[in-house]
Amino acid sequence: MFKSLLSVFLQSPCPLCKRPAENIVCVYCQKQLESCQLTNPSHLWRGNLPLFAWGVYDNKLKQAIATLKYKNQPQLGMLLGQWLGNTWLSDSVSKKTRKLTVVPIPLHRERLKARGFNQAETIARSFCQRTGYSLQPQGLVRVRDTETMFGLDPERRQQNLKYAFAVGKIWQQQPPRCGSTRSARSPVLLLDDIYTTGTTVEEAARVLRERGIKVCGVAVVARATSFKSDRSRYY
Ligand SMILES: [Zn+2]
Repeated sequence: MFKSLLSVFLQSPCPLCKRPAENIVCVYCQKQLESCQLTNPSHLWRGNLPLFAWGVYDNKLKQAIATLKYKNQPQLGMLLGQWLGNTWLSDSVSKKTRKLTVVPIPLHRERLKARGFNQAETIARSFCQRTGYSLQPQGLVRVRDTETMFGLDPERRQQNLKYAFAVGKIWQQQPPRCGSTRSARSPVLLLDDIYTTGTTVEEAARVLRERGIKVCGVAVVARATSFKSDRSRYY
């Protein structure tokens, strides 16, 4: 009796609903999150910038990503990164790509200062722990703070992001294609929390490729529900 009472007090509340949770989220929220999972995460692993997505950016997953970013709950990023890693490893895509260097989409330093952490890096760290890939959070830097992209049409998004990224100092002298270490020779997998129109990751990939760095694709926790028209040119 005492033990079970104690365990109730020791459990930290679920960051999504405040119910007691034995793990990072409660059983109820975990079920709801799992219902956002895509049945075929590598459905769009093709074209210029192949995409791997764990789930659909809607309902509970949307709430979880917003809570992670705006309510300072990085443990949600660790959980989502672990799930993304599990799904990646069980998919045939991972069999084709043995060694990868994972580069999270960076935040501008002002935004990083305000938030305290980069959610893409938290997800990427956990993803790499699960998959065994190398993490390179300094592969890219955000040199321009871009306004919030929400509500902008694709053309404005693209203009807005032009020159937003640069190759990080770590790769400016020695890009990974001619590096001497094992991880430096492996292609880059970009990682972000959300994929909406793809403008952000396409710009990031362009900057790396311009320096001769191979980018094999992008992995995200959630992709927008209505984005097919934006990627129609890749079909
Ligand atoms: Zn919950």
